[in-house]
Amino acid sequence: MTTIKASCPVCGDVELTPEQMRLVVCSNPDWSYYAFDCPRCADEVRRHADDEVVSLLISGGVRADTWHVPEEIFEEHDGAPLTYDDLLDFALWLRANDSVPEGLAPRVV
Ligand SMILES: [Zn+2]
Repeated sequence: MTTIKASCPVCGDVELTPEQMRLVVCSNPDWSYYAFDCPRCADEVRRHADDEVVSLLISGGVRADTWHVPEEIFEEHDGAPLTYDDLLDFALWLRANDSVPEGLAPRVV
């Protein structure tokens, strides 16, 4: 049986089985992480998993879950956030207009 050695910030070094370790591999590598519930204090320990850690954990038998974040999450937005009134105005506009693309097209004056 494979034993994985990890460190809890409270208890220090602990030993885990692959089944006790959770590995989440994100499409944005900076957000990949592994986590476990400490067998001594029961706190959840979560840490970033770089490519090397991901490879080591998978080779140790840890099942990897994949997490795909949409590219839109990295878009930069400016301007004021939408308000409830903006949403109501849009809902009313949708009642009166059949085509969103036509409504969004620039108007020639
Ligand atoms: Zn602990």
